[in-house]
Amino acid sequence: MELSNGIVLEIAEKYGFNLIGFAKAESLIEETERYAEWLAKGYHAEMTYLEKNFEKRKDVRTIFAEAKSVISLGMNYYIDDSFSENENAGKISRYAWGRDYHFTLWEKSDKLINELKKIDESFEAVSYVDTGPTSDKAWAVKAGLGWMGKHTNIINKKIGSWFFIATIITNKEFNYSSLIADSCGECRACVDACPTGALVSEYILDANKCISYQTIENKKEINENLKGKFDNWIFGCDACQDVCPWNKKFSRPATEEQFISGNINKEFTLEEINGISEKIFKERFKESPIKRTKLKGLKRNADFVLSK
Ligand code: SF4
Ligand code: SF4
Repeated sequence: MELSNGIVLEIAEKYGFNLIGFAKAESLIEETERYAEWLAKGYHAEMTYLEKNFEKRKDVRTIFAEAKSVISLGMNYYIDDSFSENENAGKISRYAWGRDYHFTLWEKSDKLINELKKIDESFEAVSYVDTGPTSDKAWAVKAGLGWMGKHTNIINKKIGSWFFIATIITNKEFNYSSLIADSCGECRACVDACPTGALVSEYILDANKCISYQTIENKKEINENLKGKFDNWIFGCDACQDVCPWNKKFSRPATEEQFISGNINKEFTLEEINGISEKIFKERFKESPIKRTKLKGLKRNADFVLSK
């Protein structure tokens, strides 16, 4: 049977994807020009892996020669909960409260692809979640999931910006989605709320100053100039998304069971973190995004933020 947008939508929704859009597989010329400027300014900090695979970022046909379309999928992870009043507790970014989203989205993307292959055996696809050589955010915009907000996350008018993105590159053609107009308007709430000034201007993030980078990707010591500015974030930071009026008004609770039921890693005190052994860390965070920073990194973050 010939695949259609409707068939993909129906199956993707069955697997829990909330947002589904389609884009023609073509060169991301303007997007990669902006990306090159961002790299040239050193805003990617020590994430030198972001300098690699430039051609693949620019044109997915260098990854998959037969590519005709890119399907962008979004899955809501918003949990309607807040932090305790304990000023000695370090906060974890909302995306990491539960199971590592990579596992969930990889599994569900694979299931979707397999089911589409059963319907049309000539359907071929490769998929990525965040870690591949594609630009998930750029494709989400192209596929009409939303626009890139001034905080550099994608905003959807129905659910805000609390969603994960999976990208599927395929050899089939579809009807392509319309672009969504930037609706940030005169708002700059995210830029003004950033505790470290990492949003150096609207739509431009300097990872060197960003708490998310410093607490997760940075493997060295945290820049002393940032001392006292982390507002108790010890793994990631949600300040710019928390203040966004689109999130305040439109975010709604996630329905994906894997994000809801594993919602256990919201905050920790310095004492709790210092009491964790390597063995317990590996067991407890085996399926959590927090494992990325390793126990050493989590302790460094907690020391930096919570030691008084
Ligand atoms: S994640 Fe935090 S530190 Fe990074 S830009 Fe947003 S508010 Fe600033
Ligand atoms: S806080 Fe305002 S400026 Fe920032 S992304 Fe949201 S709407 Fe746009």
